[in-house]
Amino acid sequence: MQLSRLLQLLGALILLATVLLVGRVATTEWQSVRKATHSLHALDELQLGLRAVEMLSRERGPTNAALGDGLPAAPERLKALRDARERTDHALAQLQQSVAHAPYADDAAERQRRAVMALSRARTAVDDVLALPKAQRTHPMIRQAVNGMAAVVPLLAPLINASARSSLSAYPALGDEVHGASLAIHLRDQAGLLGSHFTAAIVTGQTFAVAERRAIDETRGGIERLRALLELRLQLHQASDPVVDAWGAVTMRYFGAAYALAEDVMARGERDGIYGLTAAQFAALYVPDMEPLPALRDVLLAQARHKASAEHARAVTTLLWVLAGATGLLLVLGGALVMIQRRVLQPLVKTTSALRALARDDLSAPLPVPLGDDEMAEVIGAVRSLQVQTRQRRDLERERDQLIEQLRLQSETDCLTGLPNRRAFLAAAQCMLAAASRHGFAVAVVMMDIDRFKQLNDNHGHAAGDTALRAVADGVRAMLREGDLAARFGGEEFVVLLGYCDSSHGVLFAERLRAAIAGAAVLLPAGPVQVTASLGVADSALAGLDLDALLSAADAAMYRAKQAGRDRVMVAAQCGQSAAA
Ligand code: GH3
Ligand code: MG
Ligand code: MG
Repeated sequence: MQLSRLLQLLGALILLATVLLVGRVATTEWQSVRKATHSLHALDELQLGLRAVEMLSRERGPTNAALGDGLPAAPERLKALRDARERTDHALAQLQQSVAHAPYADDAAERQRRAVMALSRARTAVDDVLALPKAQRTHPMIRQAVNGMAAVVPLLAPLINASARSSLSAYPALGDEVHGASLAIHLRDQAGLLGSHFTAAIVTGQTFAVAERRAIDETRGGIERLRALLELRLQLHQASDPVVDAWGAVTMRYFGAAYALAEDVMARGERDGIYGLTAAQFAALYVPDMEPLPALRDVLLAQARHKASAEHARAVTTLLWVLAGATGLLLVLGGALVMIQRRVLQPLVKTTSALRALARDDLSAPLPVPLGDDEMAEVIGAVRSLQVQTRQRRDLERERDQLIEQLRLQSETDCLTGLPNRRAFLAAAQCMLAAASRHGFAVAVVMMDIDRFKQLNDNHGHAAGDTALRAVADGVRAMLREGDLAARFGGEEFVVLLGYCDSSHGVLFAERLRAAIAGAAVLLPAGPVQVTASLGVADSALAGLDLDALLSAADAAMYRAKQAGRDRVMVAAQCGQSAAA
């Protein structure tokens, strides 16, 4: 597999693993954030629910006090009752608004409707009693009115439990605070209820009825049970200072002062029904010492909200860190892949192309520019050195070949005339004869010797002889056709081998050559000099395709031309015949 593909695959795998891992962690933390948010909302609902219960319980104080008054009722008492009812209505309205969007909204609305209806009926019953002169308010009548008010609170209990469950389902660690707050308000309600049980007896100045006595005992039992449960829930040995302080206030003020007052009233109700205070006086003494209970609730709910907020903040922080970390990781990964791509893979591909081209002896392929002082730069540098060395070697080889070719030409060329020398002629002539043999064409050899050349040397000097030799060679060269071979055979002798030529055409060629040499004067510093030559012709029809035989026959004919008087052409085996005289 190619490295680039492997890197892409690796990158994709790391990306997938990171996304899965981050997705998992982020989902968990996001759920924590949502749960904590949900928990905070549920705590708000719980607080509103507990506040509604508290207001319902509180309303019983001014209600009981008013029930103890004669007609006309004291205006401040009626005002206190109106205010208490307004506060209850407001708390119930707030609760209704709050739970409208809760998961249990339908059930909550139904329960709230029932509680509001029960409250309305209970208030009507209270108002009916309040409309009577005090003497006509009977013990059962008052008890019924009081019990009607007390019966409203339990209708809201499922609603409170639902919001408590809702907050705990999101964040179970709030169990102690949530249950503790509910218990505190339940205790406040029971404590209020205990006071309410005394109202009828105090207002009528009677001892407790049997049913009343039983209700009081049940309520006291409930209070003791709630006290024990609260102490368990609060885990006082490890509770925070505000909780310990709030519970201390409950113990001192309610279970100390208020509960002692209640026990004194109970003792009188048992004994003679002489209480020594009115319902309003009892309420004024008893009710304020229940205040630490809602205060305890507020402390516990504040603590729960603080925990949920801390969890919310922790989850948000973790979520942000995870997302930032994942983004950073992916950026680093992407950067690394891009860097490897740019600094390794792309240069590698180009370098490989350059190496392949080098193997084909092609030095034109460009090498990449290294992006840093790294291993890849070393590889590129090494390949560049290889290119340079190859180029130098190739230049040297070319120079050597040129030199060899030059030497070869020099060794085969006559330096004076520029014609091939004897050795080159013999080699080339052998090739032409082989071709003639293969293709069956005739050849003719013309041998030529300059006449009385020694004399020319002697008369005009050796340099003039050289000039004459070059002029004759130029004359020979000018006569040649494509494929003819000519050479300086030695001294002032020249030879021409004519392909596709018999003796008659050879004689024509030789005659033209002779006439050309004889007709063109050689220009010397001393003036023009006439040069002549004797030529002998032999062809393959006579001597066969044997070079030595052809040369000997042509040489013999030339010799006869010399003897016959020079400046003429003689044909082999036709002694005495001359093409021109
Ligand atoms: P013939 O007509 O019988 O051929 O008379 P010849 O004088 O030409 O014959 P010979 O062979 O006696 O003379 C050839 C002369 O050619 C001798 C030599 O000095 C001269 N010669 C040979 N090679 C060269 C050369 O390269 N340059 C010059 N200037 N002369 C050369
Ligand atoms: Mg000679
Ligand atoms: Mg000669």
